[in-house]
Amino acid sequence: MESPKTRTNQPEPALEALQMAAKQAALNSYSPYSGFRVGAALLLSNGEIVTATNVENTSYGLTICAERAALVRAVAQYGPEIRVVAAAVVNLNDTASPPCGACRQVLAEFMDPDAVVSFPAGSEGAVTTATLSIAELLPFGFDMKLK
Ligand code: ZN
Repeated sequence: MESPKTRTNQPEPALEALQMAAKQAALNSYSPYSGFRVGAALLLSNGEIVTATNVENTSYGLTICAERAALVRAVAQYGPEIRVVAAAVVNLNDTASPPCGACRQVLAEFMDPDAVVSFPAGSEGAVTTATLSIAELLPFGFDMKLK
């Protein structure tokens, strides 16, 4: 598998602040089944940062990821017109955790194609932070065009 590219033309301070906010949210993770503690932070076009964590469920399938929880929270708090200009995902388990396919699709609905997502990537013992555009993370995402 090709290793993710890391962009250098993004404002690093903004991404670092997002990563710190995501890490803080991960401390609240409800993950008694996996122990996998994830946090996500979204920078909105209105300048606000919205965070969330993963919330597991005994039925497993009803678990919601930190990324989608943050997006739902952002819409609930600021309305349906929000746009996500950058997103950060972290975990407290020192392992790679790119956003899952469901989260990529949900984030893409609220992100311009060149908006970026940073996340832990790599293999055991060599986890780094990758930053990719949502278009790179979700090529050929579902996009309903009725015409
Ligand atoms: Zn997910």
